[in-house]
Amino acid sequence: MSIEVICSQLPSDTRELKCRACDDPPYTEVNWQYASQDKGDKLHDLFNQLKPARKLKFGHLYTCQLCGSNWVLSDEGRVMSRVPNDRMVMLDEWDAAKLSIDPEHLLVLDGIGGTAPRYWMGNKGVISVPCAISTRSGERIDPAIVWITRRPPIDAFTSRVRLYRDIGAIEPSRFALPLDVRCATVSAGEVSMGFSPTRVVAANGTPFVLHWATSLFNQAGITGSEIHLSKKRFSRDEQLTIAEADMTFAAYFLADWFENAENLDKMQPQSSLYSKLRSFWKW
Ligand SMILES: [Zn+2]
Repeated sequence: MSIEVICSQLPSDTRELKCRACDDPPYTEVNWQYASQDKGDKLHDLFNQLKPARKLKFGHLYTCQLCGSNWVLSDEGRVMSRVPNDRMVMLDEWDAAKLSIDPEHLLVLDGIGGTAPRYWMGNKGVISVPCAISTRSGERIDPAIVWITRRPPIDAFTSRVRLYRDIGAIEPSRFALPLDVRCATVSAGEVSMGFSPTRVVAANGTPFVLHWATSLFNQAGITGSEIHLSKKRFSRDEQLTIAEADMTFAAYFLADWFENAENLDKMQPQSSLYSKLRSFWKW
């Protein structure tokens, strides 16, 4: 067997030429304002190669002149994010559709209450509300998380992303953590690099640690509604189970941002819950 034949049998992705701008080093998300500054670095080369293709419902689609890969510039022009190839169809569907929330469903979501975790380069880009969803076609999804956002469906951390449409009913989910627990996880401090713990206790007395912003709980036969905040703070000396993150088991439904959507964020400084949490944690 010749060398040439062996090479032709390599998986296709190993034969692909990497893009000088997008893949060396491989970028997935960049600060666009920083990239625009000519410091003679690779990031500025990427800035020069990405050209606007079209305006989206929120933000702009860009294309790399060298390799044709697609990127999205966030609505406020700060974050440039690469679009995975397998998300282009959903991105186009998202762009063409109006993903609004019916007033009756909005009332239910407001009653459950949302939080605004920081996801993208420290930006608050989303309001997250855990719930159970029944579609008009009779499918029931529990747990689900409704994301009200200008962010398009391009994030690869979960494959369970759907567009918020054909919604028949919204109900509270037993997997949802109580609102005060969810708010505490959003504001939990980082105790070591990338680790922001919140100590919680189940109704049966079992303690757990939630890592960073969390909306749901489903572990060891215990669901979110049985979890409450612990008076005892997290300690490195204590060996506790770190609960599964939402993204390991939740389905995310993307709804369009709308005027006054921020009222669904119950962590706003003016909310009474925020004041209660401040006194709980003695901030
Ligand atoms: Zn490229």
